[in-house]
Amino acid sequence: MKKHNFYAGPSILPEFTKEKTAEAILNFAGTGLSVMEVSHRSKEFVAVITQAMDLVKELLQVPDGYSVLFLQGGASLQFLMAPYNLLETKAAYLNTGSWASKAIKEARFLGEVVEVASSKDKNFSYIPKNYQVPADVDYFHYTSNNTIYGTEILVDPVSPVPLVSDMSSDIFSRPIDVSKYALIYAGAQKNLGPSAATLVIVKNDLLGKVSRPIPTMLDYRVHIENDSMFNTPGTVPVFGCLQTLIWLKEQGGVEAIEKINKAKAELLYAEIERNKMFASTIPDPADRSRMNVIFVMAPEYAELEKAFNDFATSRGMIGLKGHRSVGGFRASLYNAMPIESVQALVDVMKEFEKNN
Ligand SMILES: *Cc1c(COP(=O)(O)O)cnc(C)c1O
Repeated sequence: MKKHNFYAGPSILPEFTKEKTAEAILNFAGTGLSVMEVSHRSKEFVAVITQAMDLVKELLQVPDGYSVLFLQGGASLQFLMAPYNLLETKAAYLNTGSWASKAIKEARFLGEVVEVASSKDKNFSYIPKNYQVPADVDYFHYTSNNTIYGTEILVDPVSPVPLVSDMSSDIFSRPIDVSKYALIYAGAQKNLGPSAATLVIVKNDLLGKVSRPIPTMLDYRVHIENDSMFNTPGTVPVFGCLQTLIWLKEQGGVEAIEKINKAKAELLYAEIERNKMFASTIPDPADRSRMNVIFVMAPEYAELEKAFNDFATSRGMIGLKGHRSVGGFRASLYNAMPIESVQALVDVMKEFEKNN
């Protein structure tokens, strides 16, 4: 039976990425060696990481004056690295969920955090609006897509100070204007590649301004000077990221993929609205994530949650169980997910409604 992979991360990758990586595990770039066993300084691997950085720049139209890095430690290490490099006294954060809260916790090790707004009062089911970012902070940080709660900020916030964003779960899903940002970071395992690579896009001239000494591995400038090779990069994860970037370019890039992502999300949200057995947890449609679609059983059908999960699983739907802090279901519709799989899920929801 065909499996439809709705996991939130690590998550679905293009067939192209998997096939090319499988080949390179056995014979990398005609070397007769595995991509796991060649030097990261070999000309073959340097070509891989260089091409990956170039494709990031091309696909997101990264302007001059920015560096693209492939690091390790996940978005979770960026929660600390960002303030280490950019926070002198005070930073502003928007609290829209668990990941945003974790970013705030790390920033507090290094300075004062102004929480400009939070949606915690309603279990992070909406995006706060009409908040003010103070002008006397070093930067403003927000999470563009809230992977756990299923909300997304599709319009770049207006900020009088440099903008920093955790885009782990929606980077490359749509065009972004990188020139508005001081720093963008993303763990690879949602929309880019295998886990254990972290993408960083940083504006060079904002670095070197803080007065604290920065430990070597936490200093963006060290990684920039060494072309992401200060220490050994994850050769297999970076290879996988490159394949996904090549695939994305072949799909027509971020503009083309955004159209498909919109269609996929609209298809599933429309069924959640139509089907009497299910309900959305995000009241305002404008706040709903295109990447992680959260839904629960309607109150009258609450006792059927396990039954639906079992039924969907029996039809090849994998990874639909919601995060423990929200319950219900989460269908992650990252770039690599074909619309056919979303249609298959919609069909299963319709069939379940008919049967019960
Ligand atoms: C998954 C995720 C993280 C954590 O990423 P790691 O690579 O596991 O550190 C952080 N932020 C967001 C928005 C995420 O989706």
